[in-house]
Amino acid sequence: MPPSPRRLGPAEHGIRTEGVDANSVEVVGRLQEAGFHAYLVGGCVRDLLLGFAPKDFDVATDATPEEVKSVFRRARLVGRRFRIAHVRFGREIIEVSTFRKAESEGVELDSTGMIVSDNQFGSLEEDAWRRDFTINALYYDPIDGELLDYVGGLEDLRKRRIAFIGATSVRIAEDPVRALRALRFQAKLQFDICASISNALTDAAHRLQAVSSARLFEEFNKLFLLGYAHAAWQAISVTPLHRILFPCTPPQSEVVSLAMRNTDERIAADKPTTPGFLIAVLLWQDYSARLNALSSGHPPPVAAEIAAEQILAHQSTIIAIPRRFSLFAREVWTLQPRLVERQPRSIDRIYTHKRFRAAYDLLELRAKVDDALHEAFDWWTRYQADPASRDALIGALPIPTTPRNPRRRRRGKKPSAVVSSTAP
Ligand code: ATP
Ligand code: MG
Repeated sequence: MPPSPRRLGPAEHGIRTEGVDANSVEVVGRLQEAGFHAYLVGGCVRDLLLGFAPKDFDVATDATPEEVKSVFRRARLVGRRFRIAHVRFGREIIEVSTFRKAESEGVELDSTGMIVSDNQFGSLEEDAWRRDFTINALYYDPIDGELLDYVGGLEDLRKRRIAFIGATSVRIAEDPVRALRALRFQAKLQFDICASISNALTDAAHRLQAVSSARLFEEFNKLFLLGYAHAAWQAISVTPLHRILFPCTPPQSEVVSLAMRNTDERIAADKPTTPGFLIAVLLWQDYSARLNALSSGHPPPVAAEIAAEQILAHQSTIIAIPRRFSLFAREVWTLQPRLVERQPRSIDRIYTHKRFRAAYDLLELRAKVDDALHEAFDWWTRYQADPASRDALIGALPIPTTPRNPRRRRRGKKPSAVVSSTAP
């Protein structure tokens, strides 16, 4: 451990002050005026040094959360595991966290070595050592322009290397989500993870099973909804984490890979995205396999509900799926056969369904890997593009065949064996 931090002035580190968010500078400045130490820290400093626009600006300080609140009356104290202050500026929130001790000192661990509580305040130096990766532990004072490096983060940034502070195995045992974070930063920054992390991934995958599904849903969103989904999926799908986190999704699935790329393109174009669509895509292959298996013994709507129920229940024990997103996935799935069959009487109802667009997007991805779907996909593309030709398009559809299964005709009768319904 170096005796003192490496200190770099503005001319040496090259951070351009225009890239630094003015509200975060105000938070640091007012804390310093009140007699506290305060710095920008973590991802924002890393990204500023790399020349990226940071996603958010976090502040670290020796002021306790209550003291932060005394400086900023409007600050809200949040979090249980980490108590931090949120200082709001309109729609922007600056997170202010108090320096904490390194993990081994005063941190409560459970029997497997996982951190249970982490609210022991510490010094700036201790705060640096308790962070996950060297590149995430750089401190920048935007008032005097000085950058502090206690852990060799600048060297690893130069080498484009993701390395833990301290022993990899210990840091993963304390918090297995850090392994997933390593893969996330690998994808986001296009850095290499160091060999000790690659070697620890089997152990990490095993330990991830003890992490709450709610926390893994937060990580899911960070992995796949911040513009580097394709790279993140590629990184995860070749590791043992894949089988633990996505047991129902084939790692080589072309539809998933296309969907991830598509999500990145939508984010780059400022179009909306939703975890519901990704869940529908990730589980699609397993859903349709289950549906096929169930079809011989059940009428199609019942088979669809059982298949959806089974797979969503299974996946959500690992990664929580909030109800609105599981409903979204179900609706997108149940529209798939309807989009392909195109019963003339149902066309308008399908087209005005609130999940039509998402269902059409999934059909497009499926059609890219299955030629048999081209015709239906092209038909819907033309249907949307040209309202004047809609009647002709419907008129040209083949006459629907009479359902072979007599049970299908019992319309309106709800199956009693199934828990919840699909489309409203
Ligand atoms: P992003 O650009 O995605 O926001 P980030 O590095 O800012 O990346 P956050 O999840 O916002 O990531 O976390 C902020 C900082 O908090 C990190 O840079 C790191 O220093 C520290 N940190 C976050 N999660 C952990 C963890 N599980 N263990 C140790 N330190 C962590
Ligand atoms: Mg951040």
